[in-house]
Amino acid sequence: MIQASIQHDCKMELRDAALKATPARLAILELLEKTDKPLDVATIIEFLRKHDIQADQATVFRIVNMFTERGLTKQIQLQEGKFRYELAAKTDHHHLVCLKCGDIQDISDCNISGLEKDIEKKKGFKVLSHALEFFGACSSCQK
Ligand SMILES: [Zn+2]
Ligand SMILES: [Zn+2]
Repeated sequence: MIQASIQHDCKMELRDAALKATPARLAILELLEKTDKPLDVATIIEFLRKHDIQADQATVFRIVNMFTERGLTKQIQLQEGKFRYELAAKTDHHHLVCLKCGDIQDISDCNISGLEKDIEKKKGFKVLSHALEFFGACSSCQK
């Protein structure tokens, strides 16, 4: 759904961020691009291993931190005691976090612009962005 609107060349993106396109960096960017939920470092390492790319935990942490510093990715914390990463270029969306199985889904169209206008009117506060995560039980965990 959201993915369809994202179309870019990962190599060029790395070049724009003044980063060399190493196999690990490229693979991580490509992985984040085709996944519809924020990923933790363990999942990224597993993916790299499957694709025969050597990168230990420290390397992957360094890469995602660098990506985040250069504005390619966003670091997200969902009350799990660990960070997750997703592409910063994604359109406004939020996460539905299942507290039972740990599943995470994206949801777009938060319809929050009315609330932002309200805040501006009532508090004189100019909202530039918002962060909103939902915690609960996914549909299969309710069965
Ligand atoms: Zn669940
Ligand atoms: Zn939103």
